[in-house]
Amino acid sequence: MKAAMTADTLNSRGPDSLWSRLWPRRLGWRLALGFGSLVALMLVALALASWQIRSVTDLTQRFATQDMQRLLRVQALSLYIEGAGTALLRLMNAPRESRVPQYTEVDERNRRMDGIVSALVDQLEDPQQEQTLQRLVAARAAYFKAFVATVDEIEGNDPQAAMSVYGDQVQPALQHMLQESNALINRERERVEHQAMQANTRLEQLALWVALASLMVVILAGVLALRTTRSVAGPLAHLEAAARRIAAGDYASPPQVTGVQEVDRVSEALATMTQAIAAREAEIEKLAFFDPLTQLPNRTFLLRPATHRQDTPGSLMLLDLARLKTINETLGFTTGDTLIKAVGQRTQAVLMQAASSGLIDGVQPPVVAHLSGGRFAACFSAPDRSTVEALRLQIEDAMAQPLVCSGHSVDLSLAYGLADSGAAGAHIDVSTLLRNAEVALYAAKKAALGFAWYSEAQEAARLSHLSLLSDLRAAVTSSQLQMWVQPKFSLHTGRAVGAEALVRWQHPQRGFVSPAEFVPFAEQTGYIGLVTHWMLTQALRLLVAWAPTHPELSLSVNVSTHDLQDPDFCSRVQALIEQHGVPAHRLHLELVESGLMQDPQSSVAALHALRALGVHLSIDDFGTGYSSLAYLQQLPVNELKIDRSFVDGVDGLPGSQRLLKTMIEMGHGMGLSVTAEGVETEAEKAVITALGCDVMQGYLGSRPLHGAALQAWFDALPTTAV
Ligand code: C2E
Ligand code: CA
Ligand code: CA
Repeated sequence: MKAAMTADTLNSRGPDSLWSRLWPRRLGWRLALGFGSLVALMLVALALASWQIRSVTDLTQRFATQDMQRLLRVQALSLYIEGAGTALLRLMNAPRESRVPQYTEVDERNRRMDGIVSALVDQLEDPQQEQTLQRLVAARAAYFKAFVATVDEIEGNDPQAAMSVYGDQVQPALQHMLQESNALINRERERVEHQAMQANTRLEQLALWVALASLMVVILAGVLALRTTRSVAGPLAHLEAAARRIAAGDYASPPQVTGVQEVDRVSEALATMTQAIAAREAEIEKLAFFDPLTQLPNRTFLLRPATHRQDTPGSLMLLDLARLKTINETLGFTTGDTLIKAVGQRTQAVLMQAASSGLIDGVQPPVVAHLSGGRFAACFSAPDRSTVEALRLQIEDAMAQPLVCSGHSVDLSLAYGLADSGAAGAHIDVSTLLRNAEVALYAAKKAALGFAWYSEAQEAARLSHLSLLSDLRAAVTSSQLQMWVQPKFSLHTGRAVGAEALVRWQHPQRGFVSPAEFVPFAEQTGYIGLVTHWMLTQALRLLVAWAPTHPELSLSVNVSTHDLQDPDFCSRVQALIEQHGVPAHRLHLELVESGLMQDPQSSVAALHALRALGVHLSIDDFGTGYSSLAYLQQLPVNELKIDRSFVDGVDGLPGSQRLLKTMIEMGHGMGLSVTAEGVETEAEKAVITALGCDVMQGYLGSRPLHGAALQAWFDALPTTAV
């Protein structure tokens, strides 16, 4: 799984709408713009409102200063006009001596009237008012003329004439003035009322306008706030969704490009993080499902249901690299690893080739898994068993080429266990196939065959082995075990030198059970310790029985590697020897060469301890364990027992004779007695004798003996001339 997302793909998907294009890409800018616009809108609204208020204020101010003033002036004018007549009358009736102040008053009045009238001239904008004013000015002029005439009569001391001028000219003129002045007042009042109404309307308009503007601002602010919030919350929600997807293991769908810089930066970081997680997960998966040595899938991967199609019948081939343990121990683990890798690679190559050529189903890709050590499993879908066998032959061919590791040429020898879904062709789960293939592999190895198909009979045999194990403990205690003895003869004198003790198991239900069958299982479970102890006791008893007439005979007991690893083994042997009072060197212990190689260092220590007791030690099945000469020289042993596979038919095989000769010379070179096992014919005996072998053991000399047969053989032995 790879996150299909990079910073580039994030950036390349541009936002599309106009709004998105105008909208700043930075969250900070976006918020600043949002709030800035709100503040600006409010300021605009405030400015407009104050401008409106100011215009209304101007209006009222003008109203208060100009219009009202004018009205007051016109009213004052009326008052002066009214008072002017009365003042003139008072002047006419006043005695001469008191006239002077009266004149002052009348003059003052006239001056004020003039002042008001001339002030009004500049102030009236209304053409109708101006006309009224002109008439007023004309009436004023008439009044002034009449006034002068009246004053003349008064000063001429003709009250009668003064009165008549006053009545004929002054009063009508004043009347006229008053009339015009009142007309002015009315008109001004109208104007003022009109102005007041106008101001009122403007105020109402203003209130409406401010309300509307406030509403607009509120709506705009709302839209802006919503938009800003959404433009911030939206991308964050995308981010949250992306984080949830990642948490759910979906690394393929990247966070959407939001157009908000900060959020996209977090998205990029998230994308990088996702990639890192995906890479790490892939690494974890690799560690969990792949074997680091071969880079092949492991057992967990093989058994995972997701690895296989559930609808196709499968076949499973189990491959086991022979003698890996020995190779590891003798040629080193690096060589072992190279071998394992080679087997993996070659098997994989054959399977892939078979899938691409159509020999096996390519739809269900074959899986080659490394299970452990030298064990591999190939799982695939094949039409029939003959195809599987053909595939096995192809693998065999691929393995034919020996591998050269640090100067050694090593053969890749494999055993195969085959299992499939059976004739029904039904799907069987892989774990069952694997178990069946293991049973088949075991059967193949046991029968020394290259391969075996799984059968239910094998399963039964396997199960019986398992039940055998539980019977073994009972066997030791309830005397189902027997000790058989196979004599060994000197090739120099022809006389018996001793014998090997071999265990037999007479099972109450199954009858005779071969040691080759139960000893390996007993070794695996640790029950072998009981068998060894029982055999040692029996062997020592026999040595005690033989001692009076044939004290020169030795008896060899097979000791398993498991016994050797037991720290108390040596002291138990010592106790048994002391208990029976047998000279220690009469007891020989046989140790299998390959077993000694499992833990060379502790084996050497254990052998030294046993050798210190005085018992003789033999290396059994020599030649099958790849021991190095240097290692053998460290072992405190007395005898080499050459495995019977080297002896079998040696008379007809010059190559084997050379090998045998080298082995015998090598044993002698180390000061050891050399015994050949499994000598069945005179011809074989002749060859080993000619090659200088010391002792022979085999059916030619004697089969393993027990009971009366053993007694008869013993009785027939020629007594030793002392
Ligand atoms: P081994 O130690 O190599 O024992 C020799 C085996 O070769 C014996 O088989 C013997 O019967 C057989 N044999 C002897 N001469 C000939 C011959 O001329 N031709 C052929 N083909 N075979 C011959 P056996 O008794 O079945 O034992 C098999 C193996 O079981 C032994 O191989 C040994 O590894 C193991 N074993 C037997 N008894 C014991 C025991 O008491 N303790 C332990 N730990 N292992 C034992
Ligand atoms: Ca043996
Ligand atoms: Ca042997």
